[in-house]
Amino acid sequence: MVIISYLIPEVYHFELPGFNSNIYVYGKKILIDTGYDPAGADRIIEHLKKYDVKIEKIALTHPHPDHSGNLDRFQKEFDAEVLVYEKLENRYSNFGNKLILLKDGDVITAVDDLKLEVIHTPGHTPFDICFYDPERKVLFSGDCVFSFGSIGRTDMPGGSIQKLVASIKRLAKLDVEWLCPGHMQTVKNGNDHIQQSLMFAEQVAGVY
Ligand SMILES: [Zn+2]
Repeated sequence: MVIISYLIPEVYHFELPGFNSNIYVYGKKILIDTGYDPAGADRIIEHLKKYDVKIEKIALTHPHPDHSGNLDRFQKEFDAEVLVYEKLENRYSNFGNKLILLKDGDVITAVDDLKLEVIHTPGHTPFDICFYDPERKVLFSGDCVFSFGSIGRTDMPGGSIQKLVASIKRLAKLDVEWLCPGHMQTVKNGNDHIQQSLMFAEQVAGVY
């Protein structure tokens, strides 16, 4: 089963059950994370085609399999560019000239006035990036922060709670109305949720 919601006209949110990240489509052009379950990907592709949505770019918040497992499937279907953090060049070199490397401060354009800023947010992994639309105050936060004060795990290889705290501090400076996390619910009043996550992360890090 796929649950589809429209947060604001520019953001579609797809939820699959089980070992899958949230999947978003921004500006009908950019897919953010892919989930893992191939049957779920097929349902999403079916839906996008029905509404004539042609994905041009697939942006990954980080390379964990629940976020990237369906990358090949979506990429082949739409012949899309693959956008990942710059240090993942070798891991995704199979995409050749379709691979676009992102660094902190880069801007990704969906269409003219729909743009996402890239924010490097290490902590969950060294390769995490968030995507922020300052115009619409939308943040795609991957596994850095979730809604209701939750935070990404830092106990896996490359994880660091200190780095996560520093990353969340950066996010806390943004003006976020819509928080679109890698897992859990999308929420309004994103600023409040990020503040809660920051407090929690600082407690975990022992610096609060
Ligand atoms: Zn992850």
